[in-house]
Amino acid sequence: MNLEHVCAEVLAVVDPELGDVTIGDLGMVRSVNLDDDLDGRVRVVLTPTFMGCPATGLIADAVQVAARNAGARCVEVTWDPAPWSETQVTAEGRHKLARLGIAVGDEGKCPHCDAELVVVAANSAASCRSMARCTNCGDLVDVLRGAASPIRWRHYAHL
Ligand SMILES: [Zn+2]
Repeated sequence: MNLEHVCAEVLAVVDPELGDVTIGDLGMVRSVNLDDDLDGRVRVVLTPTFMGCPATGLIADAVQVAARNAGARCVEVTWDPAPWSETQVTAEGRHKLARLGIAVGDEGKCPHCDAELVVVAANSAASCRSMARCTNCGDLVDVLRGAASPIRWRHYAHL
């Protein structure tokens, strides 16, 4: 078993709620380690975008399958409750999310016209997202955020 190969396959697991965005893109993979005591046993530590995310079960199952397909004999997936933050999203992840019309964090720009966004609702379709409106084109945009990231409400008179 090649641990680097297993790690690459784990990072390539897609988030079931976010199209082709992988858990590697989102910065959800804390570690992929070989268990010294038992040959072929891999421990994967993941951070959910928020605790209680309904996608965690699906992601854990997909990680199991990906790691086994890459040669791991036994896979242990654990969830690290340390807070995930949108700052862990990679540049590639931001690019993919923008294509889905999703901005990242309060500093995120409108994926359609690159203008500033103002938050209009704390929670959107998923609890790891809030909803913002573009100050230019007026589109509603989902904003991915960590639960620990404070929402920077801004008053915008024309909304
Ligand atoms: Zn816009």
